Parts: sequence; structure tokens; C-alpha cells
Amino acid sequence: MNLFDTHAHLFDETLISQIDDVVARARAANVSRMLVVGTTAEDSAKAIEIAERFPEIFATVGIQPNYCGEVQPGDWERIVEMLEHPKVVALGETGLDRYWDNAPFDVQQDYFDRHLRLSQERDFPFIVHMRDCGDDIVVMLEEAAKRGPLRGVMHSFTGEPALLQQCLDLDMYISFAGMVTFKKSGDLREVATMVPKDRILIETDSPYLSPEPVRGKRPNEPAYVAHTAACVAAARGESLAEFANLTTENAYRLFRRVGRD
Ligand SMILES: [Zn+2]
Repeated sequence: MNLFDTHAHLFDETLISQIDDVVARARAANVSRMLVVGTTAEDSAKAIEIAERFPEIFATVGIQPNYCGEVQPGDWERIVEMLEHPKVVALGETGLDRYWDNAPFDVQQDYFDRHLRLSQERDFPFIVHMRDCGDDIVVMLEEAAKRGPLRGVMHSFTGEPALLQQCLDLDMYISFAGMVTFKKSGDLREVATMVPKDRILIETDSPYLSPEPVRGKRPNEPAYVAHTAACVAAARGESLAEFANLTTENAYRLFRRVGRD
């Protein structure tokens, strides 16, 4: 069995300080691929450094919406340059966030638009962060879809069935993180059963929100994606082996620059 953690922030101090052990535990849990997802120009560069050290780790580069207000001159150009690195496989995370009021919304929209255009120009997939702004996201994705095909993922999806359908209609992949395993997340597990077999992904979003039954453990780490996989597989009535296989194949298809062994 092979699992693919499509979203982890391994440059977080709680994880980078024990990175060899984190990777060893991931290997022991059959996690054969991990994406380290950038949120600023600086930690995107750190994501690349980690990816250079471990064969199963790949990096994504981007500016997360909550950090758009702190962008320094030259940061965006650095993101664009980093796409040249052989272990960079996607753009993001990008998107929009109305929950944390950290960056002006029009600045968030400007950077989301830049990531989307760059994705289409350079044929890199993109990773979307969405919090309390599903409608705004759909408007911008629809706008981008008029220019050309979209190749992206809604990361740590927590939306309702109607939003799910809009995202699927826009050819987006849908990724579930630890929250889907929480006891109170019955509605979200139901949504996870509605995602077609060829569009579903899983992730940890490490170091945040560990899944059940290790919910109390901090930090979250890629090895725990096995728990999320087991939970979603059970909800969907699929075997863990089947679910692991289809989510891993989906991840390779979306993030096609990720090398296989
Ligand atoms: Zn993230």
C-alpha cells in the first residue's frame, strides 16, 4: 500500500526540528510521497531545501492568502523563479480567506489571480486554500476557466455538497484533511462519499489538526494520513488498499512532475 500526503508544512519548527524521524515514521506508515506546501517566498525556499534532502518529498511554491499582506518586493519574482527547480511540482497554496482578516481581500484576489494565470501559463497545478469564501473562489475559478483548462485541488475541503459540485464542474480535485475524521464531521464525511473516484485526494495539513484517533497529538505529521485514509475509505465503502491506490494515482496524475520510484 502507498499513501500520498498532498499537503504538509514540514518547515514548521515543530516538524523540521525532528525531520529525519518524521520521514522515518511516514515511511513506516506507507506514506511514499509527501508535498511540502509553501505559504511565503521564504518558506517556499525552505520547502525546496527539504525536498532536496529526501527522495519522497516534493515542494510547492506560493503565497498563502493570509500572508499576502506581508509580501516584500521581489517575493513574487522569487516564486516564479522557483518553478525552475526540478523538485517543485505545484503552485500554492493560494486562494482566499475571509476568516482571518490578515490581508486585504483585494490583495488576496490579486495574488490568487497571479497563481491561476501562472498555473495556466506554465502548466503547473495549483493548490487552493478556502475559508469562508466559497462563492468568491468559484467566481475566480470560473473566470480562469474561460482562459483555459484548470488543473488544481481544493485543499482541506470543508464545503457543502453544492460547493463540491461547483468545484467538480470546474475539474478541480478535492482533498480531505484530518477534520473529516472528527466525530462531529458526519456531514463532511458524507461529502467525501460524493467525490468521484478519480478526483479525491488526502492530506494531513501538518502540523495542524491531527486526525482521529491521534487528534490530541501535536504536531500532526504525514504518517497520520493513514488514519484519514482509513476513515474516508470506510465512509465510502472502499477498502483501505483500494482507497490508498486511487488517491495516490490521482495525486500522481494531478502533480505529474512528482517522480515515481
Ligand atoms: Zn496549508
